[in-house]
Parts: sequence; structure tokens; C-alpha cells
Amino acid sequence: MNLKKIALSIILLFIIFMGGVIASVYIYPPKGVMIFEYHRVNDDTVDTDDYSLSREQFQEQLDYFKENNYHTVSMMDFIRAEKYGEELPENPIIITFDDGYEDNYTNMMPMINAMGMKATMFMATNYIGKENYVSWQQLKEMQDNNIEIGSHTANHLPLTEVENLDNEIKLSKLLMEWNGLKTIYFFSYPNGVYTKESIQCLKDNNYLAAVTGDAGYNTFKTDKYLLQRTNVSNYRFGYIGFQWRILKTKILYRLGINQH
Ligand SMILES: [Zn+2]
Repeated sequence: MNLKKIALSIILLFIIFMGGVIASVYIYPPKGVMIFEYHRVNDDTVDTDDYSLSREQFQEQLDYFKENNYHTVSMMDFIRAEKYGEELPENPIIITFDDGYEDNYTNMMPMINAMGMKATMFMATNYIGKENYVSWQQLKEMQDNNIEIGSHTANHLPLTEVENLDNEIKLSKLLMEWNGLKTIYFFSYPNGVYTKESIQCLKDNNYLAAVTGDAGYNTFKTDKYLLQRTNVSNYRFGYIGFQWRILKTKILYRLGINQH
């Protein structure tokens, strides 16, 4: 056999293998919780900001979840199911928003509420009350309307660049609690960057779980401080792109790639 034939055989085997993997996720869909990562729902920024979806696009995705029998749960629902055996609905998913843009209050919350769904917002606390970000009052209102609030640090720096982890992890949590929000139990790593020290710091400060930017499924065996999360914010490839990210999540999980 010459080299060309060997290369072609390898490519062919790979295609057959991937075909098998894709078929397997349809025939035996993975079981567990998919967590989705969003940032903004804003018709004005959708063309200029990769992290924005229009309201129509977001609605299309919520409709997809509903039509495909997915049910939203909160981070706390997931943790309670693990700790106390409380039951989760069929095909549970968690919808999360990072950073805390004001459009989460004006657009996301009413749409989530109208669908009877839940969502979780991770707040970078030094942004609260700044232009384009939610205010304290809005945060409280969101918490009363099925939006769970978590921390996304104080200053939104990758944790590898932070000298005093306590300032980012502990103070962001305390600040929100001192300002009248319910106890903050959940955390989202800025830029998805985590370290051993940051995980320890989260545990020391009574956080119960944290989400990464690594796509995959979450089961009760998944490391609670490295939960898998699928980023769907970037809408460059439209609805197909959204579908691809869900399929990619299933493939990565099935192949065990970057699963914690
Ligand atoms: Zn962020």
C-alpha cells in the first residue's frame, strides 16, 4: 500500500467512526443536564456584538427547548437533586447568562417568564448600576421572578491574572448578600479560566458549584466546581449554529473529551 492509500483509509475510517458516534447520540441520547451560556438578548447590538442574540433568535431557541421536551431547572434544583435525591424534570437544562447586561432585565427576563421557564444570571458585581448593566433594584426584581443570581467575580478578570482571589470570589458574593440578595451559591469563571487555587477558594467561601466554558453533559458524577457549559451566544451561523453546538456537546460527552 502506498502512502496515499493509507491516508485515504485513515480518513475513511475516521468518517465511519464519527458517523457511528453521531448515530449513537441520536439512538442513545446522553443523560444529564446541559447548561447553556448566553450573554445578551438585544436587537440593537446583535449585528455588532458576537455575544448578542436578537429577541427573535432567543425566542426561536426557547421554542426549540419547549418543542423538544427540555425543561429548565435552576443550579439549585440540580444541586438539590444530587444532594437530597429530589427529582428533576425530564431532559433538564440550565439557561445561564454571564456579565449582567441590562437587556437581561428588559428582554431576557420577560421572555423567560412568558415561557414559564427559569434562568440563572452570573453577575460581575463592579458592573452593577453602570451603563448597560442591571441596577441593584433590577437584580432584586429578577431574583423574585425565577432568575437565580450567581457571581461572575467583582472585576471580570481571568482568575489567573488575579493576585487576591478573595477579593474577586469572596467579596463579590458578600457584596450581593449585603445588598439584600439571597445567598449566592454559584459561580461562573470569567473567560472560562479556572485554577486549582480558585476552585479551593470557591469551596472555602461556601459556593456549591461553578460553571466553565467547556461543553458537555453534567451528571451527578461531574465535578461540581467544573460544570460543563455550552456557549451559544455567538450567532454567526444562525439556527444551524445553535443546532451544531448541541450536537457538538453530545459528541464531546460521548467521546469523553474535556469532561470533568
Ligand atoms: Zn463574562
